[in-house]
Amino acid sequence: MKIGFIGLGMMGYPMAHLLARAGHQLAVSDLNTETVSRFVAEHAGAVQGASPTQFADADIVITMLPDSNAVEATVLGTDAKPGVAASMKRGAVLIDMSSSEPMRSRQLAATLADMGIDYLDAPVSGGVKRAVDGSLAIMVGGDPVVAARCDAVLKTMGKNITQVGKAGAGHAMKALNNYVSAAGLVAAAEALHVGKAFGLDPEAMVNVMNNSTAKNNTTENKVKQFMLSGAFNSGFSLALMAKDLGIAMGLGKSVSQPMQLGDEVLQLWRDANEKLGKGADHTEMYRFLEGKDE
Ligand code: NAD
Repeated sequence: MKIGFIGLGMMGYPMAHLLARAGHQLAVSDLNTETVSRFVAEHAGAVQGASPTQFADADIVITMLPDSNAVEATVLGTDAKPGVAASMKRGAVLIDMSSSEPMRSRQLAATLADMGIDYLDAPVSGGVKRAVDGSLAIMVGGDPVVAARCDAVLKTMGKNITQVGKAGAGHAMKALNNYVSAAGLVAAAEALHVGKAFGLDPEAMVNVMNNSTAKNNTTENKVKQFMLSGAFNSGFSLALMAKDLGIAMGLGKSVSQPMQLGDEVLQLWRDANEKLGKGADHTEMYRFLEGKDE
């Protein structure tokens, strides 16, 4: 297939690599032109999608961008630059694999439908490691017939592809997933700091948790690997996690469902983001919580 891929960041680069390796013909683009040049140099047949018209013959255009603002600017355009949708052919599919805002995704789907373009939201979970080995969990929102047409492409990047509802449903699912994940990370980090202050060994604590009911994704895949090691380089930024939590809390409000714990968790991530600044990895929440008494 001819595939446009926009957003070659921590996740997008390895995902686009798997598509190129599977034999698809790629046009790639990113604000970071160095990354685009590197991708084109490393993948024979891939071309630089320097202008929106270079996506005109794509069967599928995939976005893997930070948020809904970037997705809308890229797909629908801005005052300064036209979007890719304007030149996409009728019947082509725009798949937003970013973690975007569900309500805005619904609106985007409707706008694209008016232009004759199909839309799926297909955000992912599993982090950089699973983006590299093609085993991401992918949650799909949109028309099941369109999803079936894109199934083989999605399976190149992920293992568990689940249709969760209409347009926007994938993004709702993703935000709620990350709320549970972020709350679990804070709980694990707080417990480790308390245990350490009491005299427990953090490594031993994680081993016990992983054999007990406290086991979660953080205890299994983050504590030793990125926190206790001091590496703090999981590849998922703290700012993006704070963004996801904002989406989840907004979703709760939109359906009038209180999220008391969620509000606390969101505030903690926003405080950490403000203190640690741009570029901090989300696993640095562990060091942010050390000695925090309020
Ligand atoms: P990233 O910041 O590493 O990459 C984003 C890329 O988009 C960058 O290369 C940036 O230059 C590019 N970009 C930004 N605005 C653009 C625009 N207007 N036009 C073209 N390119 C633009 O982010 P990431 O970690 O790859 O995450 C991408 C999305 O996937 C986010 O929505 C994130 O929440 C989600 N996600 C990330 C992870 C992870 O572990 N990193 C896991 C699951 C989901």
